[in-house]
Amino acid sequence: MNDRDESNGGDRRRTLIAGGGVAAAEAALALDDLAGDRVAISLIAPNEHFVYRPLAVREPFGYRPAARFPLAELAAAAHARLVPATLAGVDPQRGVAYTGDGAQLPYDDLLIAVGAAARPRYEHALTIDDRRLDEILHGLIQDVEEGYVKRIAFLAAGQAAWPLPLYELALLTAGRAFDADVKVEFTLVTPEDAPLAIFGSEVSARLGEILDAAGISVITSAWAEVPHQGEIRVSPGGTTLRVDRIVALPELFGPPLAGVPRAEHGFLRTDQHGRLIDNQHLFAAGDVTELPIKHGGLAAQQADAAAEAIAAEAGAPLEPRPFTPLIEAILLTDSAPLFISAHISGGHGFSGRISEQPPVREPMKIAARYLSPYLRQHAADMEERP
Ligand SMILES: Cc1cc2nc3c(=O)[nH]c(=O)nc-3n(C[C@H](O)[C@H](O)[C@H](O)COP(=O)(O)OP(=O)(O)OC[C@H]3O[C@@H](n4cnc5c(N)ncnc54)[C@H](O)[C@@H]3O)c2cc1C
Repeated sequence: MNDRDESNGGDRRRTLIAGGGVAAAEAALALDDLAGDRVAISLIAPNEHFVYRPLAVREPFGYRPAARFPLAELAAAAHARLVPATLAGVDPQRGVAYTGDGAQLPYDDLLIAVGAAARPRYEHALTIDDRRLDEILHGLIQDVEEGYVKRIAFLAAGQAAWPLPLYELALLTAGRAFDADVKVEFTLVTPEDAPLAIFGSEVSARLGEILDAAGISVITSAWAEVPHQGEIRVSPGGTTLRVDRIVALPELFGPPLAGVPRAEHGFLRTDQHGRLIDNQHLFAAGDVTELPIKHGGLAAQQADAAAEAIAAEAGAPLEPRPFTPLIEAILLTDSAPLFISAHISGGHGFSGRISEQPPVREPMKIAARYLSPYLRQHAADMEERP
């Protein structure tokens, strides 16, 4: 529990962490472990709960809602002060962060982990929003089971996207149709050059077989437009698909933050230690960064790298290690989940692995060095029970 005085930094290094998701929580726990009393951590976040987003994909299929954890307890576990606010902007010259309600918070180091903003790409599609996925997709699943829907398309909306949920939703929906003995044509359109291409060719090949067996045709290296209800134009090639329903990922972009230099689509460009380019004391991790694969496990690894760099600034005796991405995932299917992993270099996966056997004893959908044990300890069965 929180037995330190967190009210001011004293002679400790003032570290602000903006965000209340995977990257922020992981960074706070990591920094507390690595730097201890050398840092005074404040977590700025508007949300009262940390939500375990990956399991939202099961909600439309009759599973209980994704697990939620009080953020105040998580902050206390990291000996961090929780500031219930949003980060609105930064003055890096003065080392001051501004909150949405006008407060000024001085910092020595600031880690921005505010996630990506999502917006629907297609007017005529059901856009995935994990805060209310049951509400969005429950009707569709019912219509599938009752035989009202014959053709469904799943569309990725852009390059920077969460890799897993579109495949998971397609596989789970196909499973429902099979169980209900209803014939449905499924198509998935993606700009990737193979299914889950980031995991490398072995994983893509095996996943391709699984999708094929589930009756899901995949159109790769393709972009979709939806000019009208039920009509999809696929480019290149200009093929037109006619379907009954369309499910799409949202487009992701970096949220505006005054005073923070942004790269393409508003994302933040960092070096391998999570430092914003040309800003010694500004860091970023997670979906808000330029890394095109928006994945909780990678967000946590970025957070760990930034936490090490900040801990070193605070005088902790360690050599900060760079972010060397290893992507690990559990892909939900209608039957056994698949455990997949790959090292990533230059946007490509290598040494990919796909198996029905878990690689570790207690795998979790978001693999995070500090956060996973915390979540498991506070809700041991959250990945198990319907
Ligand atoms: C349906 C779905 C399934 C997924 N499945 C998986 C999976 O199986 N495995 C996996 O590893 N990843 C998965 N992901 C991806 C994963 O959830 C994200 O990559 C991860 O949550 C990113 O963490 P983050 O901390 O960067 O952002 P987020 O988790 O989005 O957290 C951002 C936080 O910042 C807060 N915030 C926003 N604006 C501000 C502000 N201005 N100031 C302060 N705080 C702010 C938000 O309230 C939120 O708490 C999935 C995503 C979705 C949507």
